[in-house]
Amino acid sequence: MTRPLYVHDLDALATHARSIRDALPRRVELLYAVKANPDPGVLRTLAGVVDGFEAASRGELRRLAEVLPGRAPAAYAGPGKTDEDLAAALAAGARRIHVESPAELRRLGALATATGRTAQVLLRVNLPVDAPGASLVMGGGPSPFGMDPADAVECARRPPAGIEVRGVHAHLASGLDAPLAGAVAAAVVRWAVADVAAAEVDVGGGMAVDYTDPAGRFDWAGYGRALAGVADAYPGLRLRIEPGRSVTAYCGAYLTEVIDVKRSYGEWFVVVAGGTHHLRTPAAKGHAQPFRAYRRSGADGPRTDGGPVTVVGQLCTPKDVLSRSATAGPIGVGDVLAFAMAGAYAWNISHRDFLLHEPPLFRIGDPDEVAAGWAAGSPPS
Ligand SMILES: *Cc1c(COP(=O)(O)O)cnc(C)c1O
Repeated sequence: MTRPLYVHDLDALATHARSIRDALPRRVELLYAVKANPDPGVLRTLAGVVDGFEAASRGELRRLAEVLPGRAPAAYAGPGKTDEDLAAALAAGARRIHVESPAELRRLGALATATGRTAQVLLRVNLPVDAPGASLVMGGGPSPFGMDPADAVECARRPPAGIEVRGVHAHLASGLDAPLAGAVAAAVVRWAVADVAAAEVDVGGGMAVDYTDPAGRFDWAGYGRALAGVADAYPGLRLRIEPGRSVTAYCGAYLTEVIDVKRSYGEWFVVVAGGTHHLRTPAAKGHAQPFRAYRRSGADGPRTDGGPVTVVGQLCTPKDVLSRSATAGPIGVGDVLAFAMAGAYAWNISHRDFLLHEPPLFRIGDPDEVAAGWAAGSPPS
C-alpha cells in the first residue's frame, strides 16, 4: 500500500495568487499569513507575487530565513510573544511588529531601546464593528487578541521609548464574504485614522473559503473595488491585508487509498489509509472535506452501492472523519481518493503523532494527474 500523499500544485498557486494581486489596487499591500501553510515550495512560489510575509512565531521567522534568505519579514505578529520572540523579530528586521497589549508594547520598547533600535509597530485593536445588513457584530467583546480601543488610543498617544506607532492592525473575524470584508475594512480605517491618527492600517485576513464549493473563490475583484474606495478616501494612508487560507487552500490535495469498505447498521463506511492526523482540517472546521474518487484499475474487491458514505481514517476515535458524502458514487477497496482544498491549515495543524502512523509523502504536481496515475497502477514513489 502506498503511503498517503500531499500534492501541492505550485503553478496553480502562482496563478491564483497573481489573480488576487491583480484584483487589488496597486496601493494595497498584500501580505501572506505564513501560518496557513509554511511549506517551503508554497513560500517560494508566493515570494514572487506578494508584497511580504507575516510571521507569527520564531519558528516561522526561521522558516522564512531558510527559504527566502535576505528577505526581512513584512510583519511579526501573534499572541503570547516572549521577550525572545520580540528580540528575534527585531533581529530579523521585521518591518512591522503587531502588538497585542500595552504590557507587550512596554517590553518591546525596552528591548528596542537596549539594542539601539526603534520598533515600528501596529497596535492590534479589538474594535467593535457592525456589519451593515447582517445582524452581526465583530470584535468589541472580551478576547485574548488585541487591545481595547481606549488602550490603543493611550498607547498611540504616549508610546514608550523605542517605539514608533505607525498605525493599527485588526483581524476581527474569518469567513467574511467580500461585501462584509470591505465594510469591515472601511470601518477599521475610519476609526484608525480618526482616533489614532494612523498612517497605516492592516485590516487582516479571514476572507471566506467555502469547502462545499471547491470551484468557488472569494470575490477578490469586489473586495478590491471596496478597498479602492477606502484608499481613495484616505490618499496618504498605507493599506494592507494579510490573508492566509484564501490564498493557499486550493493549491493542496491529500491523496490516499481505500483500505476497506463496510456497512454498519445500514450506513456505508469507507476506511482510508491516513486520516485526520494528516489532514485535520475537516475535524477542526467540522466540515466534509470535498473529494473525488479514482477507480482502481482491475480492482474486483467490495464496493459501496453508490449511496452516501462516511470516509474515515485509521485512528481509534470516532472523530477521525474526513468526509461525509451523498454523491461519491460506488467506492471500492484500492480506489484512490483525492481530497481537495487541503492547502491551508491542513498538514501543519494536524496531530501528526497520534497513533504513531507514518507521515504522508509530499510531491509537487497536478493532484488530478497523480491520483489518476495512482489508480491506473502507477503509484507515486
Ligand atoms: C490567522 C490570521 C490571519 C490569516 O487568516 P486567514 O483566515 O487564514 O486568512 C491573518 N491575520 C491574523 C492576525 C491571524 O491571526
